[in-house]
Amino acid sequence: MASLKDLDVSGKKVLVRVDFNVPLDEDKNVTDDTRIARAAPTISYLLEQGAAVILMSHLGRPQKEKLDDGTINYDKFSLAPVVTTLEDHVGCQVTFVNDTIGDKAKEAVAALEPGQILLLENTRFYSGEEKGDEDLAKSLSELADVYVNDAFGAAHRSHASTATVAKFFGQDAKAFGFLMEAEVEGAQKLLVDPARPVTAIVGGAKVSDKILLLEKLLDFADNIIIGGAMAYTFSLAQGGKVGMSLVEKDKTDNALDLLKKAEANGTKIYLPVDTNVGKEFSNETPSKIVKAGEIGDEWEGLDIGPESMQNFSEVIADSKSILWNGPMGVFEMSNFAKGTNAVANAVAKATQENDAYSLIGGGDSVSAINQAGLADQVSFVSTGGGAMLELLEGKELPGIAAIKN
Ligand code: AMP
Repeated sequence: MASLKDLDVSGKKVLVRVDFNVPLDEDKNVTDDTRIARAAPTISYLLEQGAAVILMSHLGRPQKEKLDDGTINYDKFSLAPVVTTLEDHVGCQVTFVNDTIGDKAKEAVAALEPGQILLLENTRFYSGEEKGDEDLAKSLSELADVYVNDAFGAAHRSHASTATVAKFFGQDAKAFGFLMEAEVEGAQKLLVDPARPVTAIVGGAKVSDKILLLEKLLDFADNIIIGGAMAYTFSLAQGGKVGMSLVEKDKTDNALDLLKKAEANGTKIYLPVDTNVGKEFSNETPSKIVKAGEIGDEWEGLDIGPESMQNFSEVIADSKSILWNGPMGVFEMSNFAKGTNAVANAVAKATQENDAYSLIGGGDSVSAINQAGLADQVSFVSTGGGAMLELLEGKELPGIAAIKN
């Protein structure tokens, strides 16, 4: 597989699949530009090499959120609002065309000179995108000489612009972008011969979302720290009282099975020993610290307690490789963000002071590390929630396979 730096792109038209699926406010301002910022190095490199850059991306779910008359809401899901933010990051003008594969798009591509950027309209305006449609992929491929996939956030999707399109380019005319390459390397650092001990911190709402990850972690992690609402399902499984906490009663068998497997193969599992409980799901609710498994009927667990923070921080401090996926509590509410912040601080400290490799595995843990202001003190912050989870679960992602094969 060619690396982007090995490809000859000078004077060529390069089609780059980026992930500009960014949040917009009511006035169509980009409220989190991380994905645009992280795609910028690939775009800038291509421009410096004298390529004409054609960008394509999806935004939102236009096929699922249609207007009452059954037509696409073109206004709501247009990529036009990202242009100014993109221009800020790449430092040059970007042309936008409100078309993806039609005549208008073809004309804009024909007029595009080396050193210029063209952004196409939302690929999901076509129903064939999410079906991985060959005709759509072929039409996209005909716009360019070279295909680069830098959309890690969409790499677990077998869509026309993320996977199918790649088959219309030869091995010397397709490559990962720099972001995609870094994401794959980041996961490899944990999966292949990692520096030990390896500690995985898994939190968030549901065991069911993370069960495959937890199973896979048994293969390569020395320590697994479990926090968030997930921990109450484990507590319930062990006969604890969880009050009104968020639990998955039908997943207690999975939880016990996991604990058993961990014991058998020597992986240490760390569960919270205390928990911060509230009367109701609100930031201002009366709260108190109780022991794990001793939550009263009218209370609900919303964060880990101080002793757990201390225990978890000590394990993290001794680690050489760290994966963090999922918050320790309802970190969106400041009174219940302490456990998540303690973990964020411990991960940053281990990275800085113990020379540990730390990967923040996408989704809410990324918001949490940003909220704590520590994103620049960890080794790598993933841009892909679902994609990073699947990569760590050991799956071959369609967007990656399509470039390699
Ligand atoms: P996930 O997407 O599975 O990583 O879950 C993240 C969500 O889990 C966040 O929105 C958190 O607010 C939520 N969460 C974490 N701990 C708890 C808890 N104790 N009770 C309810 N929700 C929680």
